Amino acid sequence: RLHASVFDNAWEGIVISDADNKIITVNNAFSQITGYSAEEIVGQNPRILSSGLHDDVFYQTLWSDLNNTGLWHGEIWNRKKNGDVFAQRASISAVHDDAGTVTHYVAVFNDITEMKQTEKQLKTMAHYDSLTGLPNRVLLADRLSQNLAQTKRNNKLLLVCFLDLDGFKAVNDSYGHDIGDKLLIEIAGVLSAEIRTGDTIARIGGDEFVILLSDINNIDEVDASMVRINELITTPVVINDISHRVSASIGVTIFPTDDSDADTLLRHADLAMYEAKQAGRNRYHIFDANLDQEIHKQHQHIERIQIAFKNKEFCLYYQPKVNLKTGEVVGMEALIRWQHPERGLLGPFDFLPLIENHDLIVKIGDWVIDQALSQILQWQMTGNIIPVSVNVAARQIQHSDFIEKLEAALAHYPDVSSELLEMEILETSALETVQTAQIVMSTSKLLGVSFALDDFGTGYSSLSYLKRLPVKTLKIDQTFVRDMLVDMADQAIVEGVVKLAKVFHREVIAEGVETAEHGAKLLELGCRLAQGYGIARPMPAEKVIDWVQNYKKT
Ligand code: C2E
Ligand code: MG
Ligand code: MG
Repeated sequence: RLHASVFDNAWEGIVISDADNKIITVNNAFSQITGYSAEEIVGQNPRILSSGLHDDVFYQTLWSDLNNTGLWHGEIWNRKKNGDVFAQRASISAVHDDAGTVTHYVAVFNDITEMKQTEKQLKTMAHYDSLTGLPNRVLLADRLSQNLAQTKRNNKLLLVCFLDLDGFKAVNDSYGHDIGDKLLIEIAGVLSAEIRTGDTIARIGGDEFVILLSDINNIDEVDASMVRINELITTPVVINDISHRVSASIGVTIFPTDDSDADTLLRHADLAMYEAKQAGRNRYHIFDANLDQEIHKQHQHIERIQIAFKNKEFCLYYQPKVNLKTGEVVGMEALIRWQHPERGLLGPFDFLPLIENHDLIVKIGDWVIDQALSQILQWQMTGNIIPVSVNVAARQIQHSDFIEKLEAALAHYPDVSSELLEMEILETSALETVQTAQIVMSTSKLLGVSFALDDFGTGYSSLSYLKRLPVKTLKIDQTFVRDMLVDMADQAIVEGVVKLAKVFHREVIAEGVETAEHGAKLLELGCRLAQGYGIARPMPAEKVIDWVQNYKKT
């Protein structure tokens, strides 16, 4: 009676069949789970429950386990009387008589359908975006690695496209998140319908999608694909009677042209997307691996220069400026040098161009001004009053606090007269920002600091600009000076600049004076001030005073 009560009241379904696998009894739980009453099922083969979801091999293994070990357990998908498929965790044992022959089989099972469903849901949640139903980042990574392997095998191209909607935030902000969500669902649907099986579209963030297009034969197909995607996205979507239109900025990187790993490909596509945004949105941009390397290298250079600055590896050399007529030394130009621990003494062209668009050039420029002022003071203390000119970069004068910093620097050296400090700015830089240049120059003039237009003649100063810019000096570019003895056009330019300076009441100086003949010619053309290797090369600060004293003697 006890056994019978266990049998009847168990939560597990129990089936007992005979050696021929004919069911001889089932319990209540069995009937509740499967829908078959005892009367209906007794005498049948349990095969009647088979769902058709398992192949022959599955049953062969089951029977061979059972016959060999007397026991099988595992999960089976079976079918209820009403046709529903359900999952059960089952264990089946063979019952033997004293002689060892099988007399019965006893199967005990649980309905685990619900558990299976939860499992599936969890899997879905882990792999799909809940809003759009598109694969998420996790599944994308999976698909990407599959696509990469496949592309390597079939010698085709794989496009990794990073897509960011333009103007989506505006829709969200003005119509609310509900509408924004609907728009995302709509776009996700349109794009999924477009791509081929085997391709992937994933949503990886708010309005960010990644599309993997495999099976691309050549680069010419890229354009068509991107144009098509853009077309789909820019098609207006009507939600609650209101038509919404967004566009996309798409970054594309092409494997194996860009022969990188999965993470790097995504990063590259992201970078290219950023380029597309920068270039004005609603477009695609293909990642350029060379450009990326270039940027990477530049970053490293900038970092190295930053370290150099911290380590005080920079110093100023000084090149004299003289009056050819009187033999007077009129000043020194400060020229930056990098005492590189491995590469030796480097000139500005080896490092300044790398940072001209970086704030580091401003920091270094500030240092140059401070250093120059400190040098003027040191010379002054030995009884030598020597004006110094420093070169300033375009980015420096564009900084809003240029004047403030200049004032502070001058205040830091109260014993130095501001008239001893001069600034040289490339004519081309001054022209880039005429208005700023004008303001900065006028204000500096009030502080006592004058400006020279460096490399004059290489820009395209109009006479009206020249009239407006309060510069003290025009510095004739050395290329004209160098060739003026043999090139009449260059000579005419030098002469022209000298006259221009006279008309506008500016000083004029020639740079790149390499020989005595150059000097003589300049005097003949009316230019008295000069600078160049023919007079002296740039030298360390310690050599300046000796040089000045020697020069005066000769
Ligand atoms: P720059 O201001 O026009 O300076 C003149 C350049 O010509 C210097 O080169 C100088 O050494 C060189 N030079 C002088 N006389 C002769 C000559 O007779 N023949 C030849 N062939 N060259 C001569 P450097 O020192 O290499 O400087 C190059 C440029 O770098 C400078 O041209 C200036 O624009 C820039 N620079 C130098 N120092 C600084 C700085 O501290 N800050 C900024 N922003 N730019 C600087
Ligand atoms: Mg200069
Ligand atoms: Mg110059």
